[in-house]
Amino acid sequence: MAIVAVLTTGGTVAMRHDPERGGAVPALTAADLTAVLPSGAPELAVEEVCNLPSSHFTLDHLWRIRERAAAWVANPEVSGVVITHGTDTLEETAYLLDLTVPGETPLVLTGAMRTASEVGADGPANLWAAVRVAASPAARGLGALVVLNDEIHAARFVTKTDTLSPATFRSPGWGPLGRVEGDRVHIPWRIGREVIPCPRLEERVVLIKLAVGMGPELLEAALAWGAQGVVIEALGASRIPPWWLPVIERALAEGVAVVIASRCPSGRVWDAYGYRTLQEMGCLFSPGLNGPKARIRLMVVLGAAQGPAEVPTLWKSSSHSVENLRCA
Ligand code: ASP
Repeated sequence: MAIVAVLTTGGTVAMRHDPERGGAVPALTAADLTAVLPSGAPELAVEEVCNLPSSHFTLDHLWRIRERAAAWVANPEVSGVVITHGTDTLEETAYLLDLTVPGETPLVLTGAMRTASEVGADGPANLWAAVRVAASPAARGLGALVVLNDEIHAARFVTKTDTLSPATFRSPGWGPLGRVEGDRVHIPWRIGREVIPCPRLEERVVLIKLAVGMGPELLEAALAWGAQGVVIEALGASRIPPWWLPVIERALAEGVAVVIASRCPSGRVWDAYGYRTLQEMGCLFSPGLNGPKARIRLMVVLGAAQGPAEVPTLWKSSSHSVENLRCA
């Protein structure tokens, strides 16, 4: 029988209330998490990668999760890999796996919004749904998926939208690829997959969010710090105040990759206005990714590129387009 690998990394799904510390703390082991699954579950291989809130992750933790997921994917007996994860940064890990782990094997991330000691704890149901999706032939070839609240989301589109609701994960503008419905895993939508072979992440990449009237001081500080890449969450479809342009030009002249994403929760960036063309200046545009995921992509592209000339080519990939989304 095919095996589903379950990698645990911590998060609320592995937490319990600790009366002495007055709050939730990591408490559940990988064995505790999987012990609640019903009989009839696929055979599981369980590995604890770490047990931390995802807000405590460094890029080394992310890379370690990627390495362990890739190792399980390479095992021909494994039909799917589940990663339990804190919800706060889950979408970034999901997108990193989607972009860098090759193969048809489903990578399914899940977590919980309520600890194991709360009434209505959602961890067991989410984990069971994730295991079922990971074992499902319908999930093959879709890359990394995020499964919570019985919804199946593409890593590329999904984002955490609510600080507390169990229905926090949504794919604004797109919706879920599928659902876990009673006795079936139903995935009516297919999505194209893109993998960038990447030996390491470039860590010196920052994300700056624009707000009205802001000066470019944070961008100047990033350049002084030695940033190799900057993602700017611009206004609307790609608007930047004119007083930022000389600093962006300086960044580009110094060989720093500048990516424009949007602070809007959905929609692509588009240089439609005639007052200054950011793309003509040499900025890269986010292919519909939010700021945190555009940062992951830039860290991957800069880590993979053989030299500066390869950065735009790796950044722009035709397979990373929504045209690849179709109803099965
Ligand atoms: N603090 C948690 C985390 O590790 C939140 C969660 O898991 O829902 O991201």
